[in-house]
Amino acid sequence: MFRRTMAMLTRDYPGSEIAVGMQLKHAATRALANRWTQGYMDHDPSWARLLTTAIAERRFQRLRDLFDADSCGEAIGFGPGADQMRSAFAAVREKAQALRANGKAQRGDVRVEHGLLKRTHLSIRFGKLNHCTMDENNPVGAKCLEDAIVPPGHRGPLIDRCQPARCSNSIITSEHLPIWKAEHDSLSRLRDQPRLPPNRRAAIDEQIRDVELALRKADGA
Ligand code: SF4
Repeated sequence: MFRRTMAMLTRDYPGSEIAVGMQLKHAATRALANRWTQGYMDHDPSWARLLTTAIAERRFQRLRDLFDADSCGEAIGFGPGADQMRSAFAAVREKAQALRANGKAQRGDVRVEHGLLKRTHLSIRFGKLNHCTMDENNPVGAKCLEDAIVPPGHRGPLIDRCQPARCSNSIITSEHLPIWKAEHDSLSRLRDQPRLPPNRRAAIDEQIRDVELALRKADGA
């Protein structure tokens, strides 16, 4: 029941694979890992399929929302990942126009684009303070995989090692910006504490630099 509930929550609420992980921590980690490996819960292929489908549905829905926003001329996000996604969306629109012009598209509405979008297999994952667009078959530029020991059988990014401000696959959306700003304020307050040990201060400075890098992307720098 726990696993099925998780799958349903993941399907129904945006970013909930993250929320579930934050709420349930160890239990969720084990249950999610259990899709592929034996843990203290029995392997359950039907649950694994349910969860995988729920995640895929939720990701595609988010992708479609971004596509629709981009088609209306709205900003979908910042950073190189957003630039790549805009180019991919433009290619989908172009292809849809060509299909219509050749009379190969059955419909005249946006469902043609949505169908193409589904077949294009663009990846999107919900990161902690960003979206990740890494292509599992071509993980070029994935900062999280640099110098990492990738567990056997694992494909895709290592979200726990994500570097949203530095990775070319990262999209920072306008919904993420208030969190980045709040993080900047909170780190700056922490840094100003008089009795901070020098090594702790240096670590906070490094974090602040990362946050400022992310915020600069939103400014177009
Ligand atoms: S560093 Fe983050 S954005 Fe980049 S590939 Fe890894 S998880 Fe995705």
